[in-house]
Amino acid sequence: MNIVILGAPASGKGTQSELLTKRYGLYYLQTGDLSRKLAEKNERLKEIVNSGKLIPQEEMTLYVLDFLKDEKIDLNNILFEGFPRFVSQYEALENFLKIKNSTINLTISIDVSKEEAITRMSARRICTVCKKVYNLITNPPPKDEECGCGGKLVQREDDSPKSIEVRFDYYEKNTKVLIEYLEKREKLVHVNGERPIEEIFNDIVNILDKINGKNNNQN
Ligand code: AMP
Repeated sequence: MNIVILGAPASGKGTQSELLTKRYGLYYLQTGDLSRKLAEKNERLKEIVNSGKLIPQEEMTLYVLDFLKDEKIDLNNILFEGFPRFVSQYEALENFLKIKNSTINLTISIDVSKEEAITRMSARRICTVCKKVYNLITNPPPKDEECGCGGKLVQREDDSPKSIEVRFDYYEKNTKVLIEYLEKREKLVHVNGERPIEEIFNDIVNILDKINGKNNNQN
């Protein structure tokens, strides 16, 4: 099963993706992470990522498809988070998978309001040592500003107020277009992201189990 998780920055898509990859044994392809790794060796990409801008869409597609080719990943068992964000990226991924006899089974949009996303992003903290992500409101660390591993917690550079606005703008302009495109093709389900983590997770699991049941019955 290949699934795509969509949502505004700080919609909780990272948290849900981690839970889902564990539950279903999926490979977790997080393109934010891939981009930050690429940015370590490339000043141009570093400037783009840190300012909250997006890497040009076709360029990002090449990075993702190269990664899928190089890493010998099971192309039937991936959770994509952060990619695709554009219709062009979705179509490129779909075509790539089709050639490999695979497909995108479902896209899930985790919906939160702009106000909620901005509040959450301002409260997000990352551990400088183990990279664990906390949220001072929804998922607080065991001690103030300190990770469970003892590491110092800091804000991600692209979670600064200026970058937050830029990232949300990109989401509104691009990902929303992709969402409308997928709705027309009946390839998308919406999940309300303004609820406790467990509740959202259970909803998604119910949806995926139904799809899996259908697929198994067809085999
Ligand atoms: P994220 O953690 O998903 O918000 O991604 C962090 C950053 O990585 C983004 O602000 C972009 O600079 C880059 N990035 C991740 N995925 C994509 C994508 N699908 N297209 C373009 N840029 C991306």
